[in-house]
This record gives sequence, C-alpha cells and structure tokens, in this order.
Amino acid sequence: MNRLDGKVCLVTGAASGIGKRIAEVYAQAGGKVAIADLQLEAAETTAREIREAGGEAMAVAMDVTDEAQVVDGVARIVSGWGKVDVLVSNAGIQIVNKLTDFSLADWKKMLAIHLDGAFLTSRECLRGMEKRREGGAIIYMGSVHSHLASRLKAPYVTAKHGLLGLCRTVAKEAADYGVRANVICPGFVRTPLVDRQIPEQAKEFGISEDAVVKDIMLKDTVDGEFTTVDDVANVALTLAGFETNALTGQSIVVSHGWYMQ
Ligand code: NAD
Repeated sequence: MNRLDGKVCLVTGAASGIGKRIAEVYAQAGGKVAIADLQLEAAETTAREIREAGGEAMAVAMDVTDEAQVVDGVARIVSGWGKVDVLVSNAGIQIVNKLTDFSLADWKKMLAIHLDGAFLTSRECLRGMEKRREGGAIIYMGSVHSHLASRLKAPYVTAKHGLLGLCRTVAKEAADYGVRANVICPGFVRTPLVDRQIPEQAKEFGISEDAVVKDIMLKDTVDGEFTTVDDVANVALTLAGFETNALTGQSIVVSHGWYMQ
C-alpha cells in the first residue's frame, strides 16, 4: 500500500492546486503520471518539474467536457504507457451566484465540467480497465459540498452530490474487474479556486475577507484550520494504492471535522 510503482495515473486538472499536488505525490510513490489540463503550458511545467525531481510525467491537453479531447488524451497515455490504472477526476471550477441570478449558461458550464468530465474520463479509462481486468482505482474529487449545501453554490453543490451517485454506480459495475471507485470530499483548501471566492463572497455578503474565512469557510471546523493539498493528496494516495474491493463506493471527508459522517 501507498506505493504506485509502475502504475499509470491520469490526474485531471493537475496543472494547479489539489490535482497538481496529487500528481507530485503519485510520482514520488513511483507512479507514471499524466497531467491532464486545459492549461497546457502549466501542465507541461508541472510534468517537467516532476521529471526533474526524478519522477515520470507527461502533460496532456484535455478539456474534460470535450468527448474527443478525452478520447484522444486517454489514447495518448495508452500509446505511451500501455494503460491507465488510476484515474483522479479532479478538474473543477467554481461559479458563485444567487440561484435567482444564475444564468443557464453558467449552470450548464458547471455541470459539464464536474459531471460530464467525470463521466467521460471514467468511461474512457474503464473501457481499458474492463478489457485488461487487472484492477484499478477511480477517484472523484467531491467536496464537503457532496454532503452539505451552502448559499450561492447551487450548481457546485448539485454536481458534487451527483458525483456520489456516479461513484457508487461505478463501484458496482466495475467491481467485476477489480476496479474501486471512491470520492474524496475536502473542506476548504487554499488554492486559486478558493482564493478567488474570498473577495467574491465578501462583496456578496457585505463583510470583510477575514470574516469570509473565519465566519463562513472555517466556522464549523474543529480547529479553524484550512485543509491542505497534502492532506488531500495523502488520502488520494491511500485510495489509489488500496488493493481490494473492501474500500469502494465510499466518500472520505477530509475537512477538519467540518462535516462528520
Ligand atoms: P484550481 O483552480 O487550483 O485547479 C483546477 C484545475 O482544473 C486548473 O488547473 C484548471 O485549469 C483545471 N480545469 C478547469 N476546467 C477544466 C476542464 N474543463 N478540463 C480540464 N481541466 C480543467 O482548483 P482546486 O482547488 O485545486 O480544485 C480541484 C478540485 O477540487 C475541483 O474539483 C474542486 O471542486 C475540488 N475541491 C476544491 C476545494 C478547495 O477548497 N480548493 C474543496 C473541495 C473540493
């Protein structure tokens, strides 16, 4: 456990934040890591940094909402490294607004990135895993918002709840060929995604940025602390390396006790 020697790992949204750290930790554990992201230049930088540190990594241009790009991207990984053993469906964005002010276009964009992206990447990786029958792991990046709601986040909360359903279905369908599916549900992590929300929420609620952090984001944690990219990456490593179907169909909440299952 906690070693990924020779395993081929596809991490989406890995040019930044949580996905980037997962990619680094997987490479340190011996995995070959495909850094898939919309931002190709940043993905190439991450891949180069991993190679310079002695790991194996390739950058893959991929918009997870685009079927052809997902199919081509996975095919590129398979042609380079022969297979995909671990998928971390992590790419995501946040758009914050009152439900009554949300445009249909923004709603659809959010569901496309979080749900279509998870479906398309899962389907493409599972097709190969089903043929090879050598097992594997699918990990979805959920959120505490897979379990709880917050104001101004209707499509995010909807999509993150939806990932639980997708995960549980994949856990049942893919068990026959030894593939486990789980959701990681982080609390707030200081990444560009969260840094953008702080001033937005301060404006929306008419409070200071400090109050957004203390009185909204971290209010219900046990210790007022942010979750870190390392916390999430370590859980992602455990889920990727776990060897049996004993741990499947679960959501693991990593949130300083903000949400207790
Ligand atoms: P981030 O903004 O640092 O990174 C997200 C990455 O996803 C970026 O590199 C971006 O280019 C990429 N991306 C966006 N749309 C894409 C698309 N269509 N196709 C491919 N790549 C795309 O954000 P983060 O905080 O690291 O978030 C990563 C995941 O973690 C998201 O799913 C997010 O919802 C989830 N999450 C984050 C937090 C948090 O507090 N930061 C908490 C819970 C869950």
